Amino acid sequence: MARNPRYDILFEPVKIGPKLAKNRFFQVPHASGMTNAAPQVRAAFRGMKAEGGWGVVCTGAASVDPSSDDSPFPCATLWDRADIAAHRVMTEAVHAQGALAGIELWHGGAAAMNRTTRLPPLSPSGVPWMATHVPFMSSARPKVMDAGDIKDLIRWHAEAAMRAEQAGFDILYVYAGMGYLPYQFLLSDYNHRTDAYGGSVRNRVRLVEELIDAVREATHGRCAVALRLSMQELRGRPSDVAESEAHEVIGLLRDAPDLFDVKMDYSGTDCGPSRFVPEGSHRPFVDFLKQVTDKPVVGVGRFTSPDMMVQMIRGGVLDFVGGARPSIADPFLPAKIDQGREEDIRECIGCNICISSWHDGVWVRCTQNPTAGEEWRRGWHPEKPRAQGEGEVLVVGGGPAGLEAALTAARRGFRVALADKAGEFGGRLRFETALPGLRQWMRVADYRLGQLRKMPNVSLYPGSEIAPDDVAEFGADHVVVATGARWTNALCGANELPIAPLEAPRVYTPDDLAAGAVPEGPVAVFDFDAYYLGTALAEDLAARGLAVTYITTAGAAAAWSFLTNEQGHIHSALARRGIGYRTLERVTGFDGETLALAQMMSGEPRQIAARSLVLVGLRQGGSALHEALIARGIAAELTGDALAPGAIAHAVWQGHRTGETLGLSNVMIRRDPGPGALILPEAAE
Ligand code: ADP
Ligand code: SF4
Repeated sequence: MARNPRYDILFEPVKIGPKLAKNRFFQVPHASGMTNAAPQVRAAFRGMKAEGGWGVVCTGAASVDPSSDDSPFPCATLWDRADIAAHRVMTEAVHAQGALAGIELWHGGAAAMNRTTRLPPLSPSGVPWMATHVPFMSSARPKVMDAGDIKDLIRWHAEAAMRAEQAGFDILYVYAGMGYLPYQFLLSDYNHRTDAYGGSVRNRVRLVEELIDAVREATHGRCAVALRLSMQELRGRPSDVAESEAHEVIGLLRDAPDLFDVKMDYSGTDCGPSRFVPEGSHRPFVDFLKQVTDKPVVGVGRFTSPDMMVQMIRGGVLDFVGGARPSIADPFLPAKIDQGREEDIRECIGCNICISSWHDGVWVRCTQNPTAGEEWRRGWHPEKPRAQGEGEVLVVGGGPAGLEAALTAARRGFRVALADKAGEFGGRLRFETALPGLRQWMRVADYRLGQLRKMPNVSLYPGSEIAPDDVAEFGADHVVVATGARWTNALCGANELPIAPLEAPRVYTPDDLAAGAVPEGPVAVFDFDAYYLGTALAEDLAARGLAVTYITTAGAAAAWSFLTNEQGHIHSALARRGIGYRTLERVTGFDGETLALAQMMSGEPRQIAARSLVLVGLRQGGSALHEALIARGIAAELTGDALAPGAIAHAVWQGHRTGETLGLSNVMIRRDPGPGALILPEAAE
């Protein structure tokens, strides 16, 4: 199909200093968990986005010197020759598709705790990074940089820039954002210096200027130099000579870099979860740049709508549409807009499972795109399955796992029948996405159903409960059982293990609420699942006018959602909705009027009044249908939550794996031979 002319502007080439980007789609640097230890994995992941049409594809942050070591978080390096070779695999993959390759030269300063190199963290004035960000912290405090340290920092950037150019990068970033070292010089909270690098905004900007000059000189103007800046704090600070310190900083630097890449200051606002933060949320912080500088500007905002992208360009906010999460969820987003296939875009749902991967220290995972991070290891491609298949597949259960298994099998060429006992497909998403803030997560089902409905080899059977006899009668060559998991009413013991179920009046699981049960208030929600559902249910019940108390065994609400940047927003939401909030407690009993609690550590008994209790604790998989089929000798594959309950991302990945492997006896999984396998020709250095 032809491209909609409305979107032509997105495909205009744009100059970035000495380089020319073929279009305005710019995959900004973002963490992937793929360090130099897995160069092929990283190259395949980034190369896929270039194949999907992104005009610029950047790798993530790369440390310029051992005094910036982010362990245990995955951290790429640009320290020596071996690092050049490891990065070159990625730039080659990106260049092969006609895209420019960028790299973020990174020094974490007080935000990098150097747990491996054990060198003292560096800082302008000895101020540690985000004192309350405990899980990222260590007991180490940064040293104050002297004049020699500043010279070293500039030299490290220059040397890293030379290595980056040798590795084939076109765009080299100076990174003054998100609490990292050059940013610490910009912000008065970190920078109390009395030398030429501290005090006035003019002085605080000096280091960034010198870094840009050093990177440009080191590569003799051959590479473009980008500056990445966080704007959130600076924009809120008054200036004597400009509208805000942000305006003053950009004014002073307006001619310095070849490109500005602007973002927020904190992960929770920079990569805001869709549950609380809408698409395009950065705009009020970055909308002024183009009035102050003529250099091109890139910014992000979880853009998945081409109309919103055009608005950003035509509205004079951005020159490039930056994408991190949208490029993970759909590496082929630009190609689909180019081909007039907007309805095929696999839109990011803003769940931030990808960010949790970095916090977990592993390769990136994505709820919408199960192939992310598997391009090399399993040879998965987001648009094309690996092997063709023949025959008929019956998929029972049309939740995230069943939908993905059906789509993948259909793309392989199987004839696919997908049945669900519910009148509509979507499984757990049908109920969960009706809870406050979770509407966009329905994109997981909408995308897959949209694709399935267009395929001639797919038959959809909503409202069809499938029994073992039905499967036998259907006689498909392959049977996939994706019937989901169920929530139990088990309580949590003092040792934090689930114990016997609670039998009492008005005790509900999420499945009961999904089936239409309406609790009486006051209602207590007891959460030892610790992800989103407990607090989302509490929000929903409060929104319906019930008095709600949220109780969790953990020290904070939705403890795991710290990893997805949701937790801070969740705490605000609980307060906003007047939800009572109790931590480090477990429920020990309930008689329909009084809820008995115990403090997790001391066991001290407590009581609160409640008419209903919602238990969000243990989920169990398994499938009676699957067991019956196996007992009859009918081969069937269990997948998704029925196989092992987890997040939606787990179900989609399992469903994809099932779809990819149906009927195959041998499935190849590749190891990345690692950087040792890369031999750098002497002449290249
Ligand atoms: P997952 O996350 O693994 O996809 P879900 O719980 O979201 O699991 O979806 C499971 C789906 O399976 C639900 O939509 C449910 O209605 C459906 N289902 C369960 N048992 C049957 C059955 N016997 N026949 C047809 N559909 C079923
Ligand atoms: Fe978007 Fe979620 Fe995928 Fe991240 S994991 S890219 S937020 S869909």
